[in-house]
Amino acid sequence: MGLPALTQQERVAALNKAAAARAARAAAKEQLKAGTLSVNELLTAATQDDAIARLRVTELLESLPGVGAVTARNLLQQLGIAASRRVKGLGTRQREALVDFMNEKQIHPHTASKEYVSKNPGLTVLAGPTAVGKGTVSTYIRDNYPNVWLSVSATTRPPRPGEQDGVHYFFKSPEEFDALIEAGELLEWAVVHGQNRYGTLRSTVEAAIADGRSVLLEIDLQGARQVKQAVPDAKFVFLAPPSWEEMVRRLVGRGTETADEQQQRLETAKLELAAEPEFDHTVINDDVRRAADELVSLMGLIPNPR
Ligand code: 5GP
Repeated sequence: MGLPALTQQERVAALNKAAAARAARAAAKEQLKAGTLSVNELLTAATQDDAIARLRVTELLESLPGVGAVTARNLLQQLGIAASRRVKGLGTRQREALVDFMNEKQIHPHTASKEYVSKNPGLTVLAGPTAVGKGTVSTYIRDNYPNVWLSVSATTRPPRPGEQDGVHYFFKSPEEFDALIEAGELLEWAVVHGQNRYGTLRSTVEAAIADGRSVLLEIDLQGARQVKQAVPDAKFVFLAPPSWEEMVRRLVGRGTETADEQQQRLETAKLELAAEPEFDHTVINDDVRRAADELVSLMGLIPNPR
């Protein structure tokens, strides 16, 4: 049985309503592009306005300055959001992850395109001994250099307090990690500190490089050696401590590991320090900001003259 036919008047009203909804979505996308509307504000508007609520998340992302189709696809994949999803179909966790992600990656419309441009996009690997502060340097870069695409690794380690799936790591069960290895989805992977497995997701990294992004992997030495085999023309940067004493102090000061784990990490660190000559460049982590600036300039990122 068919639906009752619309009257001419009803058809005109429906067409007008659809046209108004499309215009509202187009206006919202323009505002995102111009930086006058943030992602957070758009998500809030969508709770009141059905036209905005029907905007596809892919279109939302692609409206952001500096985010192309490939980057948008990557972001969706990293956040576990289907490409066809509309704003109103996002779950609470996905909405939070999206906003956090925008903040973490500093994809702020106001800053994304104007601060830094890349003159030599490609792959850079940052490795170094345990507790040298790789994580702190990469967090600083994530928060201050919006044009660096920092890879999010998969790991079997459980999340620490405050860590979010898809933002800090993709947290996987051992079985899920096995499946990634079997499917050839990891560019490299390693057991770190004899405990958990960590690996780089090949497809997201390849897509970001294809998108012209400056990609940074912050991984352990074993992983760096694997990347050297797979991508010999990548840039390899060794992050070194100012001194051994300082490194011990940082390791013990972190306080997130047991005494046994600390001892294990120190043993690993001694071996890792000897690997410096395998790298193209060494950056001394005497000051996080200075080290991050040096790394970013080694990656070919320069202040945008515009
Ligand atoms: P944490 O558990 O403290 O976050 O990281 C422990 C170590 O794992 C760090 O030295 C970090 O560089 C390394 N790591 C993080 N992600 C990866 C990855 O994808 N591959 C490899 N090989 N190591 C990683």
